[in-house]
Amino acid sequence: MNVVQPKKNRIKLLPDHVINQIAAGEIVERPASIVKELLENSIDAGSSQIEITAINGGKQYISVVDDGYGLSKDQAMLAFERNATSKISTIEDLIKIETLGFRGEALPSIASVSRVVMKTRLKEKDVGVRLEFDNGRLKSVQEVGCPIGTSVEVFDLFKQVPARSSMLKNEATEFQQIQRIVGERVIAFHDLHFVLLHNNKTIVDTPGFGNFKDKLEQYLGDKIISNGIFFHREDDKTGIKLHGFLSSPFTLRKTKTYQFLYVNNRAVSSKMMLAALYNAYQPFIPEKNQHPIFVVFIESPPYFIDVNVHPTKFDVRFKNSNQVYKFILETISYQLNTSDFKPSFYKDNLRYEPKESYWSGAKPSNASTAGFKRFPGYQNDDVPLKRNFAENSKFEIIDTFNEADGIIPLSQFQNTYIIAKGKNRIILIDQHTAHERILYEKFLSELKEERISSQRYLLPIFIEVTPEDNELIINNKDIIRNSGFDVKKKSTNCWSINEAPVLLHESEIEQSFLNLVDDIRKSGRDMDKECLIDRMAKTLACHSAVRSGEELTIEKMYDLLNQLDKTKVPSVCPHGRPTLVELNLDEIEKIFKRK
Ligand code: ADP
Ligand code: MG
Repeated sequence: MNVVQPKKNRIKLLPDHVINQIAAGEIVERPASIVKELLENSIDAGSSQIEITAINGGKQYISVVDDGYGLSKDQAMLAFERNATSKISTIEDLIKIETLGFRGEALPSIASVSRVVMKTRLKEKDVGVRLEFDNGRLKSVQEVGCPIGTSVEVFDLFKQVPARSSMLKNEATEFQQIQRIVGERVIAFHDLHFVLLHNNKTIVDTPGFGNFKDKLEQYLGDKIISNGIFFHREDDKTGIKLHGFLSSPFTLRKTKTYQFLYVNNRAVSSKMMLAALYNAYQPFIPEKNQHPIFVVFIESPPYFIDVNVHPTKFDVRFKNSNQVYKFILETISYQLNTSDFKPSFYKDNLRYEPKESYWSGAKPSNASTAGFKRFPGYQNDDVPLKRNFAENSKFEIIDTFNEADGIIPLSQFQNTYIIAKGKNRIILIDQHTAHERILYEKFLSELKEERISSQRYLLPIFIEVTPEDNELIINNKDIIRNSGFDVKKKSTNCWSINEAPVLLHESEIEQSFLNLVDDIRKSGRDMDKECLIDRMAKTLACHSAVRSGEELTIEKMYDLLNQLDKTKVPSVCPHGRPTLVELNLDEIEKIFKRK
């Protein structure tokens, strides 16, 4: 038999240029990675103006020119040495890092896979220095006349590394990535003046002043901004601050392009932050592949975070990850649930500004419509958020829909929609989704407290399940019991349901039970207990709610509206579909050209 013998090469230290090329493998993936590193260096150098130029998606040429501190000749040469940095000296410095860079790897890595020319001048010097590197080798160092600050030009990326250059995408795609990198920093460093040119065309030219809102509006457009909310909250316990912008949950996109996350002003991709945000938006998102728009900044004392997780520092780790997750989830949920986003009759004419809330009779205070500090009275406890908010404001809560409120159900349309009128509006309510919202909240609290009321059936319902489900049912009898089902094994894969939640339609018992088993199966893979309970509440609500096509008496309609009024999020069902739309007098008058 032929056995492959391992090569017996002797161990030796790799030469610097090989080490740099290996490091470049992690740091310089594409032109956008170079733009990121150079931009961050310019920002760290205290620049106020930064101009980025790219040709052919950056594959042929990239330059970043700043007006920052600049470097002396010696320092500039040192900057291209591996692990040479001015930003930290000891490992302790790393825990209080305030600059974007600190690993001292970017310049040598970039210079090892391209031709690089740096020109740099200190403020107090009359001349600057020009350094040229060609794929890892220093070509020349000379004094030159140049403006204060630093310019770095990068020619022909990966020309000598064909395996890497073949991985690059077409010009448009590479440039898109550069635009993203620049955009992330335009949003975060709103007092800097950024210019981005591509193939001699100006793509971005921001004023070097203005606030976050202005910059974001330029970036996202005023429609998205005016429909969304700005928020700000600080956690007293940890000193962590959270602020940013959230789009209306009804402004969803097919891609995640408009999502920006920052930790201490460093653009990051954090799974934990994303999970918290998506979980907060989740009640409003009807389908998969729909994505909210958000820009969220966390400011944290540096010792709570570890940015040295990945060479590009794109990922960060929080020391108290669970706490931060909860803080984000609570804050964002609160924001979304207390802002009166409502879909209107006309999609193009959506109006999301918080306005008088007729479902709770509580008006959001003006402070909630604009500005950063929205809720000084925010309380972090288990009181339902909407109620809590209303109680903290001085507005009265009216708990019923009656004529005093001005909401009167008039009739039913297609046995599916309730037509109601308010003082100044017509409202259409989807009876199924509205009832689902009511039941979801009811089941959710009952499941949490393990007190779902169930009903015993004289004739049990028999169901067949797969062998896998069989195991699941046996292993999760407690959870099933707590969800209001009493089941008994009859034969190998046959079970009888003897008891089921009272509210469940009899015809839905079997399907509802099987869906619960599905929920449990999924929870084994990727959910914690809270998510499981949430799913179960949704399943039960969906199978118990009044159907479309069912005729309702006026009394039932009153009752439904009354109960909907008491829910935390009356305007969307637990799956994210709207429960109601309205047409207000203003809109009606516009339609009939009275205004
Ligand atoms: P790091 O940013 O991690 O320190 P780099 O390789 O990116 O490592 O840069 C090395 C050093 O070069 C920096 O620490 C900084 O002192 C200096 N430097 C790089 N770019 C600039 C710039 N645009 N202006 C001033 N100094 C710079
Ligand atoms: Mg750097």
